[in-house]
Amino acid sequence: MNIKSSLSRSQIKALGNIFPGDSMTLMPAEMLIYGTDAGRKFSMPWAVVRPERVSQVQQLLRLAHEEDIPVVPRARGTNVVSACVPDQGGIVLSCLKMNKILSIDPDDFTAQVQPGVITHDLQQKARAIGLFYPPDPASMRVSTIGGNIATNAGGMSAVKYGVTRDYILGLEVVLPGGELIRTGGRVHKNVVGLNLTSLLVGSEGTLGVIVKAWLKLLPGPESSATVLACFGHEKEALATVRDVFRQGILPCAMEFFPSEVIKCLAVYGPVPWPEGSKSALIIKLDGSRECVEREIKKIQSVMENVLHFDLTMGEDEDRIWEIRRLINPASYVLGPDKVSDDVVVPRGKILDAIRGIRHISKKYGLNTLAFGHVGDGNIHVNFMYDASDQNRQKDVERSRQEVLRLILDLGGSMSGEHGVGLSKKPFISWQLGPGELEIMRKVKKVFDPGNILNPGKVW
Ligand SMILES: Cc1cc2nc3c(=O)[nH]c(=O)nc-3n(C[C@H](O)[C@H](O)[C@H](O)COP(=O)(O)OP(=O)(O)OC[C@H]3O[C@@H](n4cnc5c(N)ncnc54)[C@H](O)[C@@H]3O)c2cc1C
Repeated sequence: MNIKSSLSRSQIKALGNIFPGDSMTLMPAEMLIYGTDAGRKFSMPWAVVRPERVSQVQQLLRLAHEEDIPVVPRARGTNVVSACVPDQGGIVLSCLKMNKILSIDPDDFTAQVQPGVITHDLQQKARAIGLFYPPDPASMRVSTIGGNIATNAGGMSAVKYGVTRDYILGLEVVLPGGELIRTGGRVHKNVVGLNLTSLLVGSEGTLGVIVKAWLKLLPGPESSATVLACFGHEKEALATVRDVFRQGILPCAMEFFPSEVIKCLAVYGPVPWPEGSKSALIIKLDGSRECVEREIKKIQSVMENVLHFDLTMGEDEDRIWEIRRLINPASYVLGPDKVSDDVVVPRGKILDAIRGIRHISKKYGLNTLAFGHVGDGNIHVNFMYDASDQNRQKDVERSRQEVLRLILDLGGSMSGEHGVGLSKKPFISWQLGPGELEIMRKVKKVFDPGNILNPGKVW
């Protein structure tokens, strides 16, 4: 694809016919926000369109394919890897006007939604009739089902309930050229043909535009409880993680804070743990009332060395989860800017990873918080620094790369949640072999032979 500088008059006219009135804008002031996302890179789009109907998406992708114009699908822009920055120019396609929950079926345990539905809204509607949509990215009050599907978003409950991919039964997708295809459907089991639904999940807007999804729902759990446990040594906290699993318990969430996080929260405000606490776990259980009560007893039995134990149930649980939510604002006491990664290691390697990250940070004199979803080995690594200092910026980039190497050496993955986008693209060949990458590039060509859809991302 040739990189053009902008749209021609005839292209603008054709776009105007597809997107009348305020469903299209060419005004720089209005387009500014569509040039960036939570990854904070910026590139100005040539146009922004806001379809309400699938036929508009089809016409757009036909035009773009014929005229060789990049199209960047976008929802709420909360991805942190610059996955919807139009860095090669082109048209940003906002999915936010396609935001209807089309149905929630209590007999089939399915929901049918448009891509712009906010994840939390669907969860609330499902909960009102006793159903449960488990994927819970921390951004779920703002991010969309379409964005979650395109990034295969996961959250704290992934340890028990899995990630977005596990709840996508079928998709309707518009391909470059305008063809509308349907993959999968409303059934909970389906082994006919290759699993294109699964292939499209996590494809970061590079293969097709998702215009409808069928989601799997579960019965809502009857009861839940959350435990905060603090320890004098992080080794004890991590031994407890192992022991909880050995008791046959699969927690619904399990979060780990090392000493750096404990210290940082204490500087930010009052903390519930006693002096001498060097690490903490937050564990959430859910299920039937009897099951939760039994598991609480088992958890208490494996916490011999605990310095502080706080058990909450029902609405009161939020008191403990608020501590987890405070890590983000508290992190800024360590520096005005942040670069964050979301690496994953096998669960048995978490202590090695935390120690390795600490060692790298010390070498560069950086303040780094490494914490997170210990149940599935997913560690958030936040490098806090002052970006106005160019030397610090270089140090952060070097440490970040060393951390990625360390994680891969431990048998891990560079990303468990955020994806690749532009930010991790330079490193993708560190993790994926040439054969694997070549197949991915060929798949991209099958879906998008002209490379117009979110070009330059991931590969
Ligand atoms: C504070 C905060 C907390 C976060 N917590 C988590 C977390 O816990 N877990 C996690 O996984 N992520 C998390 N994220 C990252 C982000 O929220 C997720 O990646 C989310 O799924 C993005 O959804 P979105 O609606 O904002 O999509 P966008 O950011 O707008 O788009 C994301 C990607 O999806 C593509 N896309 C969007 N809509 C479509 C569509 N209809 N068809 C095809 N492609 C499309 C875009 O091209 C882009 O590649 C967090 C981000 C923030 C800022």
